[in-house]
Amino acid sequence: MTRTPLAVANWKMNTDLEQAQVLAASAAEYSAAQPAAVEIVLCPPFPWIVPVANALAGSPVATGAQDCWPEPNGAFTGDISAEMLAPWCAFVIVGHSERRSIHEEMDNLIARKLRAALDNGLHPILCVGETLAQRNAGNATTIVSRQLNAAFSGLPAEAIGRCTVAYEPVWAIGTGRSATADDAQQMCHHIRGLLAKIDAGIAARTRVLYGGSVNPDNAAEIAANEDIDGALVGGASLKADAFNRICDAIAAKSPAI
Ligand code: PEP
Repeated sequence: MTRTPLAVANWKMNTDLEQAQVLAASAAEYSAAQPAAVEIVLCPPFPWIVPVANALAGSPVATGAQDCWPEPNGAFTGDISAEMLAPWCAFVIVGHSERRSIHEEMDNLIARKLRAALDNGLHPILCVGETLAQRNAGNATTIVSRQLNAAFSGLPAEAIGRCTVAYEPVWAIGTGRSATADDAQQMCHHIRGLLAKIDAGIAARTRVLYGGSVNPDNAAEIAANEDIDGALVGGASLKADAFNRICDAIAAKSPAI
């Protein structure tokens, strides 16, 4: 089973409209020159989703959102439903550690967001990962298992097959301190094992990404691992050249080149 390598750019609450459009144009140009070697998803802040989606029209680069709310509409001031995203986005991140920590999102809310995304035809990118204290206490795999099982529990295998999982150790996000390639591979292998307990076919075809201080210098070593199908990139995705070089490193996995 081959899995197309995937690079996801999470711009977080960064970029102005012009920067967003420049980054989108760069990704579209990059992708046109590398057909099928690496799939690229750009996740801009909400207000830039429509202009970025328009800039990417006709390009294989997909637009994603950084979050969604589980209800379709109603009195949820400041929130955006999966239904509202669906005309513009193919992907949506759920359970990012910044949502779990800053917004105190719990597993059950994340599970509801994931279901709303699936119900609206979006591909959820489920983020899981332990804090440094949890890792130091030897609880990293327990935490990741709990987060993954809580999100996927009760879902049919077909729906889980439309998801991507991103292992993002909290201590590696935005810190410049990436997990070692070995540690990242070990946890991504563990995640694939959890998926295999649900369905062997799903485990073989679900993409598992690593995220946390990925940059052009460490991307190749991380992406070369068997169970790592690409990267979720924050800071380094805000520079077109750096993101292109990360995409090159991820594309090197591809059977297409
Ligand atoms: C992220 O935002 O998911 C992330 C991994 O950020 P960074 O690459 O900056 O660590």
